Amino acid sequence: MVNKLLGTGRWATGAHRPGPGLLGWGDGGVETVERRVLVVEDERAIADAVAARLRAEGFLVQVVGDGPSAVAAARQTPPDVIVLDVMLPGFDGLEVCRRIQAERPVPVLMLTARGDETDLLVGLAVGADDYMAKPFSMRELAARVHALLRRAEKAQVAARPQPPTLRFGDVEINQAERRVLRGGAEVHLTPTEFDLLVHLAGRPRTVLPRERLLAEVWGWADTSGTRTVDSHIKGLRRKLGADLIRTVHGVGYALEVDK
Ligand code: CA
Repeated sequence: MVNKLLGTGRWATGAHRPGPGLLGWGDGGVETVERRVLVVEDERAIADAVAARLRAEGFLVQVVGDGPSAVAAARQTPPDVIVLDVMLPGFDGLEVCRRIQAERPVPVLMLTARGDETDLLVGLAVGADDYMAKPFSMRELAARVHALLRRAEKAQVAARPQPPTLRFGDVEINQAERRVLRGGAEVHLTPTEFDLLVHLAGRPRTVLPRERLLAEVWGWADTSGTRTVDSHIKGLRRKLGADLIRTVHGVGYALEVDK
């Protein structure tokens, strides 16, 4: 058996093309629309379980086990989604995320140790879109990978028409260029933070329940991830000022406009 964690890894799917001659991304010149997921995890048992589940979902999966291999793999064959563990040999997942996002934006689902708030906040700051604390269920992992892809594809389609620039106090949201200025200075938001802000800005002064934000921004149907919404709100407040977004306890969030 090939040790996928020590090599540069190999794109393969077990779902639709099980024959050995068809395994591998591109080596057979097979035309496919399957989505590619790069799994970066040094714990063999977790990496194998994640890869098996994603292959069963029809994804092409490449597994690597350290930071430098992850950056090299993403550069060589750009993935559609990255499932990224934080603790890795070489350099950690946060550095991987920073380097990959600097070259080309790609949705990242980060895997963190349970309760590690620092990893989580730094992860979101370097451009991770979602996170799961270990241990997690493979069903939920698959659901979140699908949701990240749907959202990325929707964002690509939505990028075509020219939506208006929105202004709230000293915050300016340029939807066409996906840029945000505060007091004239550019504020760097992650793709998820931007989508969340635009969502709130579309209905100012309206309280949007966390479950609804989760469903509309992240594309999730269940409510197990409302803490993800809270974490991204925290990120937006840190970057755009504490008073822009009001918390309605037990319900959700509203964008405030001072006039
Ligand atoms: Ca690890």
